[in-house]
Amino acid sequence: MKCFCGKEGFIKIRYPKTKYLCKEHFIEFFEKKVKKSIEKFKMLDKDEKILVPISGGKDSHAAAYILDKLGYNIELFHINLGIKGFSEESLKKVKELAEFIDKPLHIINLKDVVGKTIEDAKGKKCSICGITKRYLMNKFGYDNGFDAIVTGHNMDDELSFMLNNILNWSIRYLAKHLPVLPAHDKFLKKVKIFYEIEEYLILGYANALNLPYTTAKCKFAEKAITIKHREYLNKLEKEKPGIKYQFLYGYLKNRHLFDVEEDFKFRECQICGMTSAGRICSFCRVWRR
Ligand SMILES: [Zn+2]
Ligand SMILES: [Zn+2]
Repeated sequence: MKCFCGKEGFIKIRYPKTKYLCKEHFIEFFEKKVKKSIEKFKMLDKDEKILVPISGGKDSHAAAYILDKLGYNIELFHINLGIKGFSEESLKKVKELAEFIDKPLHIINLKDVVGKTIEDAKGKKCSICGITKRYLMNKFGYDNGFDAIVTGHNMDDELSFMLNNILNWSIRYLAKHLPVLPAHDKFLKKVKIFYEIEEYLILGYANALNLPYTTAKCKFAEKAITIKHREYLNKLEKEKPGIKYQFLYGYLKNRHLFDVEEDFKFRECQICGMTSAGRICSFCRVWRR
């Protein structure tokens, strides 16, 4: 299985055409694809100050690496959640990546902010963790004059959440599966640069470049239903190549169907002053009540 250049194939591209690419041509292919995606969705400008939260995993590390390579002005951000074993391993890889691409790294310890860690959180840890990360990255970006936050969410993440929201008919959430969420109030612009990039390609890219990353899984994450959805979707894709792309682009064409008027107004959280849907924001409800 050889690349068009005659070298041994490093990866098999599955769609739109099956082909093998060597390491060098795959890196070129991947970077071109992401660059095109950034332009197509008008995701970012070169003069924007961009915060890239990195977790230690391949997706956010690949996002930081490629943005830097494409010439964007980025700084890195990491939240130490205090999950035993997992957080130490993540932190180690985060530091290695920052050194690898030579970019400023800002680290926040959840324990320093609220006096507790995810280990101490009562209730659904996964959802608390999500609330915590979204809040702290936005707050840090807002307080420090950043224009945008770029995350490493990939196409498989997006589709598995979309399927979940369809199964629950969560119309309000179904309106939000977009590659760019514009800034409003004290929320910064949020960009998913891998919105139309499948996970196996990002994995290939991180490996082709030998990026430092960890495959450690958080011990609290195992029961998420979206992991199941991801498996069904990939089974379907194997049987009917292109079906994931059809799902994604069909959504973009029909997204307006979910554009319902919000039945609430955003206001400032009475505890922290950040933008909130209710009197007290979800972060303060979890950690400060
Ligand atoms: Zn080649
Ligand atoms: Zn608050």
